[in-house]
Amino acid sequence: MTVGAEISQELAAKKCRFCGAGLTQTFVDLGMSPLCETYPSVADLNHGETYYPLHVYVCGECLLVQLEEYESAESIFSDYAYFSSYSDSWLKHSENYCNKMIAKLGLNEKSLVIEAASNDGYLLQYFVKRNVPVLGIEPAANVAKVAIEKNVPTVVRFLGEKTAADLVAEGKGADLVLGNNVLAQVPDLNDFVEGLKILLKPHGILTLEFPHLLRLIERNEFDTIYHEHFSYFSMISTIRILKAHGLRVFDVEELSTHGGSLRVYACRADNYNRKIEASVERIMGLEKSAGLDSAAGYGNFARQVRQAKFALLDFLLSAARQGKKVAGYGAPGKSATLLHYCGISKDLIEYTVDRNPYKQGRFLPGTHIPIHHPDRIRETKPDYVVILPWNLKDEIIEQLQFVREWGGRFVVPIPEVTVC
Ligand SMILES: [Zn+2]
Repeated sequence: MTVGAEISQELAAKKCRFCGAGLTQTFVDLGMSPLCETYPSVADLNHGETYYPLHVYVCGECLLVQLEEYESAESIFSDYAYFSSYSDSWLKHSENYCNKMIAKLGLNEKSLVIEAASNDGYLLQYFVKRNVPVLGIEPAANVAKVAIEKNVPTVVRFLGEKTAADLVAEGKGADLVLGNNVLAQVPDLNDFVEGLKILLKPHGILTLEFPHLLRLIERNEFDTIYHEHFSYFSMISTIRILKAHGLRVFDVEELSTHGGSLRVYACRADNYNRKIEASVERIMGLEKSAGLDSAAGYGNFARQVRQAKFALLDFLLSAARQGKKVAGYGAPGKSATLLHYCGISKDLIEYTVDRNPYKQGRFLPGTHIPIHHPDRIRETKPDYVVILPWNLKDEIIEQLQFVREWGGRFVVPIPEVTVC
């Protein structure tokens, strides 16, 4: 067999995680990166790290944009470092959501709200405060423990058909099921969506929030592509997936979170009380205008991403040549993709800081850029602070106004490098 034939056979073996069709069309190839939520400690520094490809495909059949699964879900999520409660704006967003849903659905002390991947109870705590019963489902035991300590009942399991059936058998059908920023991280998409459906009471409502693929493309948010995010959703692909599991999308809202997200509302397909709102057709229209209803429409993204890399490197190399001191702010998962794809290491960004104590004293994966307490910025007075969680840039620039005292400036790397 020739090498070319072996490669095409290899490509043909990659299957769409929703519809099973062969994956052959590249969306973007970001090279190799380590798992982005593993933060090495000093003791880990002399050990090797495993890198996995970040090669994203678009399925020619169902148009789901996706990575292959490279690592077992258990090894990614068993000791997950991300505690949602560390961002003020995210907590506010969650509280607003709870108030809105209580009013909209008339939830009360007889209702049940179930959250898939409920993390440390960052969201369900607001339902608890208003006496609406809740149940969290969270696979990372260390994170679930924090939720339980906050009086947010939580089961430590992956959500799928089996977990959902077990809970319903215990009388735990839900009036509201929600999944915020979890759909992308689900390795077995069909099993998970089936689980969501099973949890719903006949008139129950499902809400899902996820970064909108249309915005990812428009705003060049390529660093939101990382190993823990297996899938990237458009309205077109979401409706198709939910429909296959007996769910009907009847409303959608656009949100500013995570660089532009959607909140999709769905119900059981046989719940005729819910009329399909005009919002659904409007978002579908935006996607069609952007060409996302055909595989060919996904073709330009890779070139756009390459241009952003060159511009960021131009800036950092020029700062380095001028002897400027450059620090980072934040150690979000997405920084691993940005730094590896662009080839940025300690010689271009000396250190970064993060408010999360779990990450302080550790290092960014692969690049080993050290993560310090935020006070480090005041102590070392860098000329530039690169904001790695750019989706929180307004909040961070506000908190770091003191950087201006010594003439320091902020650098936002996405959609293209901006100094402000
Ligand atoms: Zn497919």
